Amino acid sequence: MNRYLTPNFAFAPIIPERGLGSRVWDTQGREYIDLAGGIAVNALGHCHPALVAALTGQAGKLWHISNLYTTEAAQALAERLTKHTFADKVFFCNSGAEANEAALKLARKYARDHFGSGKNEIVACTNAFHGRTLFTVSVGGQPKYSHDFAPLPAGIRHIPFNDVQALRGAVNGQTCAVIIEPVQGESGVLPADAAFLQAAREVCDRHQAALIFDEVQTGMGRTGRLFAYQQYGTLPDILTSAKALGGGFPIGAMLTTDRFAPSFGPGTHGSTFGGNPLACAVGAAAFDVINSEATLDNVRVQGEKLRGRLADIGRRYGVFDEVRGQGLLIGCVLAGAYRGRAGELSAAALNAGVMVLVAGGDVLRLAPSLLLNDDDAGEGLARLEKTVAEWVTAG
Ligand SMILES: *Cc1c(COP(=O)(O)O)cnc(C)c1O
Repeated sequence: MNRYLTPNFAFAPIIPERGLGSRVWDTQGREYIDLAGGIAVNALGHCHPALVAALTGQAGKLWHISNLYTTEAAQALAERLTKHTFADKVFFCNSGAEANEAALKLARKYARDHFGSGKNEIVACTNAFHGRTLFTVSVGGQPKYSHDFAPLPAGIRHIPFNDVQALRGAVNGQTCAVIIEPVQGESGVLPADAAFLQAAREVCDRHQAALIFDEVQTGMGRTGRLFAYQQYGTLPDILTSAKALGGGFPIGAMLTTDRFAPSFGPGTHGSTFGGNPLACAVGAAAFDVINSEATLDNVRVQGEKLRGRLADIGRRYGVFDEVRGQGLLIGCVLAGAYRGRAGELSAAALNAGVMVLVAGGDVLRLAPSLLLNDDDAGEGLARLEKTVAEWVTAG
């Protein structure tokens, strides 16, 4: 089926062709309920009319003009992002990894500008995921993703997620940044404790380090707030967004304050495609739909319903130990006998007509459209339950 692409992805045995809302059809005409959302990207489902209109409208006006100019589309999206968050300034790029790369570079540059070259250490969490560039994969703290690419960038320290004592022990005068996902997505949908984020804020303040929240997966409505930090009540200095930001069109952003932004002076950092008008026009349209009470309410309501029904499936078939997460970022932790088999379960679910994700071998992950409705949720869960019933019977 794949003859031309490098073998770093293990493609599923179907070829998706078309999507609408939370439904997708493959080249054989088979229909799927999409509870995966393109890995937390398709926040408004497939082919949302407001996004199609924004994309086609911009496509007839201006596609690309370079960063020798700014555009109305880039200003419109940046205005929205700053108006509704802690941030004063935005840097646009094309992916989550690039947004984190920019965040880490800004933190090092700011520290060097103000405190000299010795203040360069980055404190991150083990089992975090920040992207696949050499810097972000090294900061990510999952050696299986980085060790084959050594030598790796230096000055990175890892602590266990949610370990306040380890955090206090690791941050010192040499630290330029602490980077945390408010909910660890890829490694199992693990929410941070409020006390951990609060402690991170305190130690960063004490040692003049930047607190970076990686909201590439949790941002843009996924947890039921525009950004997850808003429900924790702890403010970062730098925040990264991507995935849902373009509702399926590639775009990333790094948000920061007027204190840190000046260290990214002219020529210090850049991107050919970052701030591209097509991406920003779609992003601004997506922002307006996501940042509405109706959408964010739907995330909270559907999230609660899904977690309740998944917990029920878990109890009846003995497959899940725990169902956790926030809003429509949900992780079902497989029970003892089924540990390590999340990939197998998600493949069986696809075969039964429902797209789901895994987060490691032990967690089944759901990240559906923020506009998920009762019909699609009900049908998707019915197909998932059928899969689970057969899977359990088959052993
Ligand atoms: C997906 C993800 C990234 C990487 O984003 P890309 O667009 O794949 O580079 C970074 N951080 C988190 C938390 C993510 O979930």
